[in-house]
Amino acid sequence: MRLTALGLSLTLSLCLMAQERTLRIGILRERNFRSVLVMSAKGTCAVFADGVRKGEIQVNDGLRIDLVGRSLTAKSLGLSFTAKERIELVPRVETNSLRLRLPESKMAERTYPGSISVTTEGGVLKLTNAVPIEAYTAGVVQAEAGKEHRGEYYKLQSVSCRTYALCNVRKHAPEGFELCDGVHCQVYHGACKQDSINIAVQATKGMVMVDADIKLIHALFHSNCGGETVNAEDLWTKREPYLRSAIDTFCRTEPHANWQRTLTRKEWVSYLERRFGVKPTNKAGVEAMLNYEPTCRDLYLGNTYPLVPLKHVREDLKLNSTYFTVTTTGENVVLNGRGFGHGVGLCQEGAMHMARQGQSYTDILRHYYTDVHLVDVNTLDFFRDEDRSTGSAGPKR
Ligand SMILES: [Zn+2]
Ligand SMILES: [Zn+2]
Repeated sequence: MRLTALGLSLTLSLCLMAQERTLRIGILRERNFRSVLVMSAKGTCAVFADGVRKGEIQVNDGLRIDLVGRSLTAKSLGLSFTAKERIELVPRVETNSLRLRLPESKMAERTYPGSISVTTEGGVLKLTNAVPIEAYTAGVVQAEAGKEHRGEYYKLQSVSCRTYALCNVRKHAPEGFELCDGVHCQVYHGACKQDSINIAVQATKGMVMVDADIKLIHALFHSNCGGETVNAEDLWTKREPYLRSAIDTFCRTEPHANWQRTLTRKEWVSYLERRFGVKPTNKAGVEAMLNYEPTCRDLYLGNTYPLVPLKHVREDLKLNSTYFTVTTTGENVVLNGRGFGHGVGLCQEGAMHMARQGQSYTDILRHYYTDVHLVDVNTLDFFRDEDRSTGSAGPKR
């Protein structure tokens, strides 16, 4: 009897471990709309109003939801009802998806895996997509990585996007969802339609990166580091042992390796004076403003006084990176720069180059993230449960 109970509990825990995590993504939150049309893309879809089941919509039937006064009204071929707070559409099979249109806008129809709930706030509708993590990861990789890359590249993007998502699930907690669908979190426009990405996501299913303390890492990435990545603390003050500056020879011939910006001498000098209070009193001081060549990635511009943080210059002048030289010829000041983006973590174009050279996605990830481990996220859940039940200092998220 005891053995049966033990067996049952073991089977139950294994089932729970294998269950895929669902993420709650706030979608289209930057748009203001009062109408939405949701259709079932395949199979039937159950409809709930304020938690009470109202019926089903069939494939290709649409449920139109409008905000009228302070309540939600909904109509389909066979349904007509109102809800005070929330309408939910849940496909009968978890792997099915929903098609979504905003009748008031020109936005192209989108397809979302998982279920969609519609609520209201501040006189407009708010949408949340509850999506299984692997389908979400595929959608993010499609939006963030683009087309026509090697399978190994899509695999490493899958691991880093999945890790980033799980590490940031508290970002929107006060708003009642976990992540948004914009650049603030990770860009997500719904279901991934590219087979090569879906294959890469499945091949790395559940895999995430953790540090030496088995904590999920901040899997930051950028377009091109210009030949040298940046320490996390150089940009955001917080040090992370896995986000260390490293020389990168792989991105130097890639599309965003170089950039150039020309300003007049007057524009440049008055900007430095106005913004940072640089007022050269001698020839050497003027020279420091007009000609500068970093030997490696610097934090400050040359020998100017007061110090000029390059990250502020990048923000103010909307430069591609903080990694640039300054040369002055006559009345023109030319900034010749390298790379594109903040430079911390994974360099996407360097990683694409490594993948084209035939390197494995695990080697590429370890090239950009120092001393990380690749583990199945379900193992972390197991460690966390152990930790909760024993109260010991074990691995935490
Ligand atoms: Zn966000
Ligand atoms: Zn690079």
